[in-house]
Amino acid sequence: MIASIQGMRMGNNMSLRPETKAVHNAMIDPTSGAIVPPIVLSTTFEYETTGQGHDPDELVYTRYQNPNRAALEATLAKLEGGTVAHAVSSGSAAMLTIFQALRPGDHIVSSDDMYFGVRVQLNEFFAPWGLETTYVDMSDVNAARAAMRPKTKLVILESPTNPMIRLADIRSIADIAHESGARLLVDNTVATPVAQNPIELGADIVVISLTKYIGGHHDVLGGVIIFAKEDEFAERIMRLVRIGGGVLSPMNSWLAARGLQSLSYRVRAHSENALQIARYLAAHPKIEGVFYPHHPSHPQYELALRQMRVGSGLMSILVKGGRQAAIELVNRLKLFTSATSFGGTHSLIEHRASIEESSSTPANLLRVSIGLEHPADLIADLQQALE
Ligand SMILES: *Cc1c(COP(=O)(O)O)cnc(C)c1O
Repeated sequence: MIASIQGMRMGNNMSLRPETKAVHNAMIDPTSGAIVPPIVLSTTFEYETTGQGHDPDELVYTRYQNPNRAALEATLAKLEGGTVAHAVSSGSAAMLTIFQALRPGDHIVSSDDMYFGVRVQLNEFFAPWGLETTYVDMSDVNAARAAMRPKTKLVILESPTNPMIRLADIRSIADIAHESGARLLVDNTVATPVAQNPIELGADIVVISLTKYIGGHHDVLGGVIIFAKEDEFAERIMRLVRIGGGVLSPMNSWLAARGLQSLSYRVRAHSENALQIARYLAAHPKIEGVFYPHHPSHPQYELALRQMRVGSGLMSILVKGGRQAAIELVNRLKLFTSATSFGGTHSLIEHRASIEESSSTPANLLRVSIGLEHPADLIADLQQALE
């Protein structure tokens, strides 16, 4: 009995749906019968001295590998249709590791709208190091193609972007990258693996900030790098992560793995709530515009329906009356917390232009993360604040 259930948990039964696999992913602890895996805090592991080297996945030292991190990485790789994953201390650390693995003289083509911290990394730290970046609007396939150079090693995109909620046609951009011998990296933080799997659409690398929907409860910082195949670049990243040491801790690995068990249901609820709120706001006379992938007013609505199974919980809105009207709206809301980040249980709202360093984000834009509260309560709160 136990053996056969463990067999299913090991993924032998491929007919299990993702929701079922997510719940039954962890092995029942054979020594105690515990359903919830223990957190292994030991930094060092007894090994047999043979005089030979170690297998990369052998437990020797926690910076190299740890049972909680290994379990999380295996689940995330499977969830995105990749072969190997490396969990690191934050989404930002994931991007930093990728850039460190490139070499002076390499060229990057990047989305011009993206998480602002990544742009700061490229401009402030990697440009002086000799890594050059060209920024393009990735919703324009021809602009992406025109930016490619013989030295382009990496194309980076977010879809939807943070905070403008613009989409990129991942399959077309993957083709453009591959024609030039470059790799495509997709930041799948906003969409989540519930909405889309970029590797299926041709991406070579997926990065996710686990801090958002994967953790899902505003209590864990983490990031992951997932590879479609185990090539020489993936090997170099593994060496950088393990020898550089920016790995995810056992506690945070455990929290992120716990979040994964309910990810599908949470993201579907976030998406349903967000669509209702997008509809309400799009019809409100004091709102100039709503950017939400699955709202028909989105300029790439067709692509959004084709590429994303759900719209996720993140949207941006433009408030009529400019910067001051936007700030006043934030301060009149009671259920929406004025805070950064997204993807958790609580609805959050943020005036992005105030916190982004040197960005072109409109001054009347608010980024809204729809949480797991009842949407009717959220709409009532917006209604009173917009009166
Ligand atoms: C938050 C975020 C990041 C950075 O992740 P951290 O875990 O905060 O370092 C990167 N990309 C996107 C799209 C994000 O939203």
